[in-house]
Amino acid sequence: MNPVKQRILDGDDKCDECGKHIPVGRLEAIPDTRYCVNHSKTAAYVGVMSYGHKTAGEVAYVKGDDEEAVRLLWRAYRRSR
Ligand SMILES: [Zn+2]
Repeated sequence: MNPVKQRILDGDDKCDECGKHIPVGRLEAIPDTRYCVNHSKTAAYVGVMSYGHKTAGEVAYVKGDDEEAVRLLWRAYRRSR
C-alpha cells in the first residue's frame, strides 16, 4: 500500500497545526510531513535529485504548495530511476 494513500484512508492527512488537509502533492513529496505548507516547520520547497544521461545529477526545487509542480517533479524523478 502506498504510504500516502494509507495516510489519506486513515484520515491522517491533516495538518497538526490547523487541521486542514495537506495537499496530496505535498504528501507525495514529503510522506511523513505533519504540517501543511503554511505551518511547515521546515522548508516549503521540495527538492528532488534527478539523474540524466549526461549530467551527474541535479537537484530541482519547486514550491511545496504548488501541487502540479510537485506532481510533475515527482513523476520525472520516478522516471529517472
Ligand atoms: Zn496548517
